[in-house]
Amino acid sequence: MHADDFDLEEDLEYGSADGVNSFRNNRMLIFNAKSMGLLRQQLIDTLGVEEARKTLFRSGYQSGYADYLSIEKNYDFESPEELLKAGPRIHTDKGIVGVETDEIEYDRENGEFYFSGTWHNSFEAQQHIIHNGEANDPVCWNLIGYASSWCSGFAQTPVLAMEHQCAGMGADVCKWEVKPIDEWDEKAEPYIRAIMDFFKGEKLMEYYSYIEEQEGLEGKIQLAKETNLPETKASTAVDSKENIKMFRQAIEDILGERPPKL
Ligand SMILES: [Zn+2]
Repeated sequence: MHADDFDLEEDLEYGSADGVNSFRNNRMLIFNAKSMGLLRQQLIDTLGVEEARKTLFRSGYQSGYADYLSIEKNYDFESPEELLKAGPRIHTDKGIVGVETDEIEYDRENGEFYFSGTWHNSFEAQQHIIHNGEANDPVCWNLIGYASSWCSGFAQTPVLAMEHQCAGMGADVCKWEVKPIDEWDEKAEPYIRAIMDFFKGEKLMEYYSYIEEQEGLEGKIQLAKETNLPETKASTAVDSKENIKMFRQAIEDILGERPPKL
């Protein structure tokens, strides 16, 4: 299939359980953009810009990575490029931002990656302006988190999305680029630190994906209870031998059999 054939509306299951909408095993929620804007502002006001930016970036990162794993596994695209372009498509379908893609160049074996494009109607830029007025720097932190992790999943190496123009600064549209983390200058450092942190718990996250494939959401909840490392904590925990052993044991307890080595 082509990226344009992907249709979230078609595959989104309303009422998969009482009060539950789901998309391929992921529970999906519909929020009013104003409430997300207020939550975002509360983070800025209570944590300060730096920590709020990191938190929102990481939250977007989690969302993009979960979407990538789910779509890569469940759909058969005509070419890798169509899979890559499905990320912008789902971001658009979710009503978060309208994505127009521009240049795509990659060589996954050699760790080369470049992707650029335009964002229209970023909800995050709109909400930032409502609460703060125009900013001096780009503000679509949640959106660049999403784009960074979607592309990192695809590129199989950490890449980072950054905006060089943002509607939150008064521009008509946002303009973004995604490149390997070592190709960015010092402005990217806070985001790179946030990403490296994420990759710490990569193995643990793979075990979360495994239990989700086997047992769905229930399995993830059980794994969180047994390890006391819910997904968000696991993503920043260290992939130590002890942690991996604990996860494997917990999965064995849940499934009644040893999980494969991931
Ligand atoms: Zn922006």
